[in-house]
Amino acid sequence: MDRILAARGTELRCKGWRQEALLRMLENVLENGENPKELTVYAALAKAARNWDSYRAIVETLKNLEENETLVIQSGKPIGIMRTHQFAPLVIMANCNIVGKWATSDNFYKYQEQGLIVWGGLTAAAWQYIGSQGVIQGTYEIFQSIARMHFNGDLTGKFILTAGLGGMGGAQPLAGIMANAIVLCVEVSEARIDKRIEVGYLQRKTASLDEALAWVDEAVSNRQSLSVGLLGNAADVYPELLRRGIIPDIVTDQTSAHDLVYGYIPSGYRLEEAVEMRKSDPQKLQADAGASIATEVRAMLEFQRNGSIVFDNGNNIRTQASQYGVENAFDIVVFTEGFLRPLFARAIGPFRWVALSGNPQDIQTIDQYILEEFKDNEIAVNWIRLANQYVPVEGLPARIGWFGHGDRTKLALAVNEMVRSGALSGPIAFSRDHLDAGAMTHPNIMTENMKDGSDAISDWPLINAMLSCSSMADLVAIHSGGGGYSGYMTSAGITIVADGSQETDIRLKTALDNDTSIGVLRYADAGYEESFDEIRSKGIRRVKTEPE
Ligand code: NAD
Repeated sequence: MDRILAARGTELRCKGWRQEALLRMLENVLENGENPKELTVYAALAKAARNWDSYRAIVETLKNLEENETLVIQSGKPIGIMRTHQFAPLVIMANCNIVGKWATSDNFYKYQEQGLIVWGGLTAAAWQYIGSQGVIQGTYEIFQSIARMHFNGDLTGKFILTAGLGGMGGAQPLAGIMANAIVLCVEVSEARIDKRIEVGYLQRKTASLDEALAWVDEAVSNRQSLSVGLLGNAADVYPELLRRGIIPDIVTDQTSAHDLVYGYIPSGYRLEEAVEMRKSDPQKLQADAGASIATEVRAMLEFQRNGSIVFDNGNNIRTQASQYGVENAFDIVVFTEGFLRPLFARAIGPFRWVALSGNPQDIQTIDQYILEEFKDNEIAVNWIRLANQYVPVEGLPARIGWFGHGDRTKLALAVNEMVRSGALSGPIAFSRDHLDAGAMTHPNIMTENMKDGSDAISDWPLINAMLSCSSMADLVAIHSGGGGYSGYMTSAGITIVADGSQETDIRLKTALDNDTSIGVLRYADAGYEESFDEIRSKGIRRVKTEPE
């Protein structure tokens, strides 16, 4: 199969823009993907479709899908076309959901091998990935939040140690530069290091720890931002730094530690060796990866004991370490609980939009609108300025902005009006990360240590998805699996297409308002004060069950 590129321009291959939009979003996740030949978008195994036959069938079906029909997809495979109605979703899907007791990593691998299931990541199988921007922004916000909490709001001259330069982790050096910090990122694959240098996300590379540390030292003394990719294994480099008495200001890791067979490379292995062992001896590979992760996490805990700010960046590294004998792995905080929860309690989260015609000017026009109309939204305004300066266009031009209840709708309706009036060169697709207030249950990432103990209750994302179907979203997805694969999380995703029609004003308002409402209500149910404030100030209707 040749490289997939998303269609550009305003010529339609489908029976309407809403269908065309979803087709372009599917093509776009592969255009931006790490290994499109395998349909892999990121994170080792996150796929856009079950296999190439399924991909081709989805494309053909979308081309012929009527306004009043719904395509049903099960783990990346199209199953059937249902007669519904013009306000129903065009696509609904469920990816990688396995019944509780059976939801183990081993079963996930088995079902995947049997061709019964794919893992959808958070945005891969739901065709919502927009390239690295989403994760650059998320990582940048974490760094900013750490700066506010621990470094007087400024990371100038601060040293961040991390690992992994893959589809998501590759964003770390750029996010660090945006925050004025010095980032050392350990990576076992030279090809991954080169790729990040090529796209301008990483500045320098070396295979020598001494050279890397000399560069870091110099940048710290000069208070100059710098990013270095160090060819090496994190399980070796982290303990070695400790041995040398070097304590970074911030330590994390974004290797694909969630996967001990296809992801994390154990210490002592060459990359090709590990790839070969996936087939010849996965059990040994898994055990060695677990042992290396335990070594790395022990070093992270030691950094923490010596004053570094250490956090888990959503790759399940603590969970793996605790399963391989590191009893206090959870002394390390997860980024959501540590830094982002107050925003999620107000349903403020990563909202995105994609210019379906492929014209980057559309994104600039919307940027300009936000800079003028959302002056008080410091996070969004600051990000849009930085993204303009640093973030290259990847695939279809797109933007992310952290918006909450009401603001998402205000923006989307204004954009729909711009599509209608011809101020934009084509329709815009809105979606958001599954890591959003009402949309995810992941007891080791999104919902760790919830106030009311509801960490593992996955009713919420299921309610979110059902509500999105009844609120006229164009695509609704339910995913399970997450880092560590089955059993770790459940999430929901939505896409709504601003095609400029009056009818879509209703779709956008209903779907977006209800999506953030359920997020606020969920956090209110768990007892977060920010949510009650949001309910009071924005008129969200909560049903009270407890006495006044
Ligand atoms: P990826 O598979 O594309 O890249 C992982 C990289 O880690 C690869 O380049 C690999 O060579 C490198 N690596 C593996 N073992 C290593 C080791 N021991 N030392 C140094 N480098 C090593 O994965 P990705 O898409 O970058 O995702 C990374 C992790 O982040 C995943 O676990 C994913 O689930 C998680 N994630 C978190 C968030 C979040 O919101 N924080 C979002 C998306 C993904």
